[in-house]
Amino acid sequence: MDEKSFVTKYEQLEQELKIAKNEIVRLTRNNSRLERDKRFLALINKTTEQLFNYNEAQQNLRYLYNDLLLENCPNMIMCFDEELKFVIGTTVCFSHLGYEDAEQVKGLFVKDVFAKKIIPEWIEKLEQECHDVLSTLVASYYSEKIPYLDESFSYAQMVISPVIDDSKKCHGILIIINDITELTVTKEKAEAAAHSKSSFLANMSHEIRTPMNAIKGLSELLMLTELSSLQKDYVKNIVKSSNSLLSIINDILDFSKIDANKMDIMRSKYNLTAFLEEVTSVINLRAKDKDLLFIIDIEPTLPSVLLGDDVRLKQILYNILSNAVKYTKEGYFKLKVSGERIDGKLKLFFKVEDTGIGIKEEELPKLFEAFSRVDLHTNRSIMGTGLGLAISKRLLHAMDGDIEIKSTYGKGSVFTFWLLQEIVDDNPIIVLEKYKNEKVLLLDNGVRGLNIKNILSDMGVQYIYCDSINALVSASMPGLTHLIYSDEFDGEVLRSVCSELPHCKFIAIKNLRAALNQSGNNDDVIYEPVLISKVAAVLADASGVKATDTKTEFADQIEAVNFINVKALIVDDNEINLMVGGEMLRSYGISVDEADGGQIAIDMCSKEKYDIIFMDHMMPEIDGIEAAHQIRRTSKLNYETPIIALTANVVAGVHSQYLECGMNDFVSKPIEVEHLHQVLLKWLAPDKAKTQEKVSQVSTERKQDKQGTSFDLVATLDDFGMYASDVMQEIDGNLTLYIERLDGASATLAELTQKLKDSVRQEDWLRFSLLADNLKQLLFEIGARDCSGRAKNLVAAADSGNVEYINMDFFSLMDNMYILDKKLAVLVPLAKGKVDELEVLDNQAYIKICLIKMTRAFKEQKLYEAGKYLERLFSISLDKALDMQLLGVKKEAELGNYNQALKLCEELIELFC
Ligand code: ADP
Repeated sequence: MDEKSFVTKYEQLEQELKIAKNEIVRLTRNNSRLERDKRFLALINKTTEQLFNYNEAQQNLRYLYNDLLLENCPNMIMCFDEELKFVIGTTVCFSHLGYEDAEQVKGLFVKDVFAKKIIPEWIEKLEQECHDVLSTLVASYYSEKIPYLDESFSYAQMVISPVIDDSKKCHGILIIINDITELTVTKEKAEAAAHSKSSFLANMSHEIRTPMNAIKGLSELLMLTELSSLQKDYVKNIVKSSNSLLSIINDILDFSKIDANKMDIMRSKYNLTAFLEEVTSVINLRAKDKDLLFIIDIEPTLPSVLLGDDVRLKQILYNILSNAVKYTKEGYFKLKVSGERIDGKLKLFFKVEDTGIGIKEEELPKLFEAFSRVDLHTNRSIMGTGLGLAISKRLLHAMDGDIEIKSTYGKGSVFTFWLLQEIVDDNPIIVLEKYKNEKVLLLDNGVRGLNIKNILSDMGVQYIYCDSINALVSASMPGLTHLIYSDEFDGEVLRSVCSELPHCKFIAIKNLRAALNQSGNNDDVIYEPVLISKVAAVLADASGVKATDTKTEFADQIEAVNFINVKALIVDDNEINLMVGGEMLRSYGISVDEADGGQIAIDMCSKEKYDIIFMDHMMPEIDGIEAAHQIRRTSKLNYETPIIALTANVVAGVHSQYLECGMNDFVSKPIEVEHLHQVLLKWLAPDKAKTQEKVSQVSTERKQDKQGTSFDLVATLDDFGMYASDVMQEIDGNLTLYIERLDGASATLAELTQKLKDSVRQEDWLRFSLLADNLKQLLFEIGARDCSGRAKNLVAAADSGNVEYINMDFFSLMDNMYILDKKLAVLVPLAKGKVDELEVLDNQAYIKICLIKMTRAFKEQKLYEAGKYLERLFSISLDKALDMQLLGVKKEAELGNYNQALKLCEELIELFC
């Protein structure tokens, strides 16, 4: 090989080596990367493996958790897919629904999952609910009772919720059934216990109330007898304490009745204006005692007649308004009444706002709890039970209403409540149209004017307001129709100032108490509190106070009589009695002055000549007897004026005492229109009476009818369903003997029936048999032969131990005995000629009055009074239907169902009046 070839070969080899080296380097480089990669891969593998192992452990853990949860969760939780097929659920579901494990349930439809245990109706409802949740994607929550096929049941809180992922896609539903059986049963037990507690309380309260009424009534009567001043003091305190105890018992009774669901909401028609006038006049008297101003704002467009439970509504309104008076020391309180017509009904709103002590914000939620009285250190001296608001709220709930309070501590409170009432007459309480032409001048220098100004603007009346006589003189209002003036101004002075206004009517606004100290002029009067209805009434025909309820009530009896130029004085320390008595007299066209005490009456009698004086007996300081005595001795004008005692005193002997001390006659309280009428006719000169009144006409006609014939006892008893004629035949027409028998029966009947009742209570059938035999004989002898036959059956039943028969007929026979006893008490004296039958027996006018008064007494919850009229009605009625209905009233009242008794009374009025 030549050198050149060698070099070339060498260079080639070198080149190749270089390439190979490079290749090696490359390869080496690559190799290390590979290695690295390999190592990395190995690492990745290892990590992945570790990761995988970890994940698997995690996963297993998660499965473990899930399994634990599913197995141990006490609630039934299930997932269903979009077709409502079972996916997964807690183990409790399977055992509860009759399966061994999840496998048996997997893929079953909702309806089949529950079918082994639960009734189909419930499952259908659940399925429907699931479909609803699927379609609306809104979860549903409710509690319900689950009825099982084996007739057991449980209570559950149900949750049905859509299963939605992050992309808002729904994958099915989740059902959670939370068993609350134990909780519900415990709650029901607690409620039942509370209920029986309330029932017990309701019954007990009634048991307490009955004797309490007796204590109250009897001590009131005791007050009217001759007592030493120390005794009087004691009795006064008994009356006062029994009054407060009774009102507490009444509250407790009401509350427990509501709590025991025994409080019925009764519905009757009522006139909204009359309702508001009644409540506000009572509250106004309390407000005056504390010198508080009472502002009343009534929406004139409210419907005039509503249907609802006015008695309960009155109770609520009294309570809220009384609280406003109780908890306000000075300033004013305001009642606003408004309404909203909704679907033919009226949502009636009352807002009572006061400037009183207010209530701390944190105390507000407590107020409607029973027996809660807040801020006791401030309120300690104010009487209360803390039940009024709790009762009001519950009553309002029962009448589709509610109540809310806003209050600022130290500044005052606003109570707003509302309820739904049906509309009977949608004519507005005030027809505003009527008043648009009236032009009124209002003269008042106090805050009272503000109230009336608002009323006049509400009515759309044109008016000028003056606060002094000077302002009045310079005011000009052509065509003035009315001048309404506060009684701080003298009517006569005003008349001379306004002499150029001949057609202007003068209307005085009087506060009741101030009115008593002034002799009245002939101007019309609006008595405080001023309501829109009263202003409207005087503007309409300026009849003012003459157009009040009192008149309508008695109008029937006296509309045809009028006394001309008669001036009367009525004296009573009780404002309400004064007003009522005064109104009754005014209805006869009599001009009436009122005095609220003996001394004032004596003073008035020295200045004014009266045709007749009505004088209350019991008055503080100078009583009626002393006042009458002084008038007789000292009054030049009235020493001969007839003085009629007004008395609630039923004690024998007291009446002659009145006559002895210079009074001429007496009228019992509450005043009976008939009696008053007779007294007026008797003591006022005949030429002063314009016409005869209805009742008297009826009486006279009846008197004439019967003239010459004596009272026909036998026919009356025959009419009453007795066999009086048969008895008379048996005793050869010996009327005296018959009357003696009736007299004897009348004397023993009540005692005998009481003994019979006792023996039934003691289950002493031997004694019962003997007594019933006596009764049988007695009834037979007086001709009550049907009842005698029933008594005979009772004897037989007692002798044979047939208690069931006794229970069936005895009490009904006793009802008949009660009626018979009442009748005999009237008929026997009548037959003996001791009483004029026309006064008492079957006197329709008198029956009507008693019915009206009994109904009103029930309405006002004056149960003692209602009972009095009920007894009187039993005595004077000769109508079987009426007797039976009265018996119904008596039974309801005895059971404490006063609302029911009231309802029956109202039916009676519709039937008989
Ligand atoms: P009572 O007045 O018989 O205590 P209520 O249930 O009527 O019972 O009232 C409960 C409590 O609410 C009262 O004791 C009183 O603390 C408070 N309260 C009620 N009305 C008012 C009011 N107008 N102003 C201030 N506090 C009031």
